[in-house]
Amino acid sequence: HARQTGRNTLDYFSEESARRAQEKWHLERQMTEALAAHDFQLHYQPIFDLDSNRCIAAEALLRWPSTQLAPDQFIPVAEETGLIHPMGNWILSTAVRQWAQWHDEGRELTYLSVNISVLQLQQPGFIDQAISLTKQYHLPPGRLVLEITESILLQTSPNVLSQINRLRQAGYRLAIDDFGTGFSSLNYLKQLPIDYLKVDRSFVEGIIENNQDSAIYRAIVDMAMAMDIEIVAEGVETPQQMLWLKQQGVTFAQGYFYTQALPPEKFTLYLNAQSEAR
Ligand code: C2E
Ligand code: MG
Ligand code: MG
Ligand code: MG
Repeated sequence: HARQTGRNTLDYFSEESARRAQEKWHLERQMTEALAAHDFQLHYQPIFDLDSNRCIAAEALLRWPSTQLAPDQFIPVAEETGLIHPMGNWILSTAVRQWAQWHDEGRELTYLSVNISVLQLQQPGFIDQAISLTKQYHLPPGRLVLEITESILLQTSPNVLSQINRLRQAGYRLAIDDFGTGFSSLNYLKQLPIDYLKVDRSFVEGIIENNQDSAIYRAIVDMAMAMDIEIVAEGVETPQQMLWLKQQGVTFAQGYFYTQALPPEKFTLYLNAQSEAR
C-alpha cells in the first residue's frame, strides 16, 4: 500500500521526481522478476593475506548480467522497497552453498565475506536464519564475515547494536565496510565488537604519491592495531600499493592488482592456479 500512497501524491511531485519514482517502480518490478527468474549472480573477489601472499578469502559481490547496472545502482532501490530481504536471503544462502561446494572439493577458504544491509540486521529472524543456514552447510560461523557499510554508524539504534552483539555471540565475524567514507565516530567503533575494518578504496588511491593520504592511512592502521582490529585494504591496484600496505602491517588486501570479482567457475580456476604455483 506504500505504492498506492506514492501514486496519490504523484500529482504534487515535480516532473523530475515523478520520472524518478517511475524509474524506481520499474526497477523494483524488474528486480522482483529477476529474483524469481534466477537472473542475479554472485561473483567472488579474492582477498589476500599479505604475509603469505595467498588468497585466503572471497568476498561475494552481486551481479545482474542481463542489465548493465552495478549493485550501487540497484541495491539502494532494493533497500527502499523491502526487496532487500528476499534478495539478501538469496545472496547469503547462495554464498554459503558456494563455500560448501569449494570445501567439498578440497579448496579451503579461511573466510567467506558477504555484504549485508543494515535493514537485514533489523529484520526479525535474520540471525536465526543465518544460524540454521551455516549449520546446514557445516560452515563454521567464525569463517563467515558479514560486511556492513559504515553508514550504519549513523544509525546507532540500540536495536542494531544488540543485533550486532547477537551475531558476534553466534560466532560470526564482523567487518565495517567502506571505512572512512561515512561519519566515523571513534567512540562508536569502541562500542562495536568489530573484527575487521575495510578501509575504503578512495584512501588507497593516493598512498604512494600523496603524503597526506599515506598519513591518513597510517593513522587508521595505528588506531585499528591499538584496538585489536584487523585491516582489509580495498581497491589495491598496483604492486607499489600492495608493498606499502604490507610494510604498514596491514593484514589483508583485495583489488584489481590481484583480480576483479570472478564468476564461481573462474574463481575455482584461480584457486587451482594458486595451488599449482605453490
Ligand atoms: P563493497 O562491498 O565495498 O565492494 C567493493 C567494490 O569495489 C566492488 O564493487 C568491487 O568490484 C570494487 N573493487 C574491488 N577492487 C577494486 C579495485 O581495485 N579498484 C576499483 N576501482 N574497484 C574495486 P561492486 O561489486 O560494484 O559493489 C559495489 C557495492 O555494492 C559494494 O561495495 C557493496 O556495498 C554493494 N554490494 C555488492 N554486492 C552486494 C551484496 O551482495 N549485498 C549487499 N547488501 N550489497 C552489495
Ligand atoms: Mg564489501
Ligand atoms: Mg567497500
Ligand atoms: Mg560498500
